[in-house]
Amino acid sequence: MSGSPLLPLEEAISRLLAMAETQRLQDSETVPLSVARQRVLANDLVATLDLPPWPNSAMDGYALNLEGWDGQPLPVSQQVFAGQVPEALTPGTCARIFTGAPVPKGANAVEMQENTEVLDDGRIRFKQPLIPGCNIRAQGQENRAGDVLLHAGKRLGPFELAVAAAQGCTHVQVVRRPRVALLSTGNELVEPGMPLRPGSLYNSNRTLLNHWLSALGCEVIDAGILPDDARQTRLRLDQLQHGTDLILTTGGVSAGDADCLGQVLRECGKPLLWKLSIKPGKPLTVGQFGKVPVIGLPGNPTSALVTFGLLARVYLLRIQGVEDVEPLSFAVTVGFAWPKPGSRREYLRARLEGGRAVLYPNQSSGVLLGASWADGLVEVLEGRTLQAGETARFIPFSELF
Ligand code: AMP
Ligand code: MG
Repeated sequence: MSGSPLLPLEEAISRLLAMAETQRLQDSETVPLSVARQRVLANDLVATLDLPPWPNSAMDGYALNLEGWDGQPLPVSQQVFAGQVPEALTPGTCARIFTGAPVPKGANAVEMQENTEVLDDGRIRFKQPLIPGCNIRAQGQENRAGDVLLHAGKRLGPFELAVAAAQGCTHVQVVRRPRVALLSTGNELVEPGMPLRPGSLYNSNRTLLNHWLSALGCEVIDAGILPDDARQTRLRLDQLQHGTDLILTTGGVSAGDADCLGQVLRECGKPLLWKLSIKPGKPLTVGQFGKVPVIGLPGNPTSALVTFGLLARVYLLRIQGVEDVEPLSFAVTVGFAWPKPGSRREYLRARLEGGRAVLYPNQSSGVLLGASWADGLVEVLEGRTLQAGETARFIPFSELF
């Protein structure tokens, strides 16, 4: 596998999605709306109510019946506030009405108060012609009982959860969380809070991925730090394959002598892909160890970030049943020149300033700070150069969470 050409990103994603299809999570659970954010709907959410449940006023104003009305001022026969149940409209009168209040039976239009005048005798003069139905939100104009409001596989955010609340739901049925064992590899790694030895550095990938996994609805099993040792790597992968849906690792997947994770995965597992035609992120290694898929991200913080955001993310969403896994992206005008074409597709940390994408000055894959500075990734295709003013695809980081 090591001698084969670098794998294009699209091919890697399609292999990951094919593997995800074989690993789709079947179980679901019912959770309260308050904790359902970022989870994935297991069943269609079907409306039990018409919305609105009754015709109501879109304005503060006056409700009247236009049929047979000659445009003359009308006396006010009742007041209807939101939350009240009105009487039927007395013929030849109008009703004072407020936004959200049910429209009285017999009324077929509401005029906003700004277009009316209260005469000395208390009658209401309507200043301009009206059309039937104006300023009335019809019953069921948003949805009818029985409509499918959200399809299974929908990721739940504030909007979707509010849709469920509007139907009176307190709970939703969601796909169970993927259980992801998170393993950092590297003899040099030390956890924050511990003293730093000479030659060591703090483990930042664990914190990055712990939060990111949670944001994608996963339950994280923190498997700690693994030394660069083939025997220990085999043992640990062997332990972790039980009770997990995915083992996610960082580091140890390049071609160096200490890159044990990749070696073990290729020798003892079933490799799915290694060596991508992207920068950063080339060493990404995916395979199956025993029963469980392993996604081996490169250790450099930005390589881990790019490969998790572009590849592991789609895998984790798809096993939860999400169909639409591609992040939204758009074309931006670049405010920089990229004169040297690359053989791999590059993902540059960039910020949008004055409508142009500008680059973080240090694009090294070891530099984490650039991601925090940036708004997202500018994609520079293989063999492509850019001049300032040309356009390139931009993937906002917000789309990757
Ligand atoms: P590797 O992919 O194991 O060759 O690691 C590449 C680089 O990333 C090395 O400089 C590592 O020290 C660094 N690195 C690996 N894992 C981590 C981690 N968990 N947190 C921060 N840096 C890391
Ligand atoms: Mg390493």
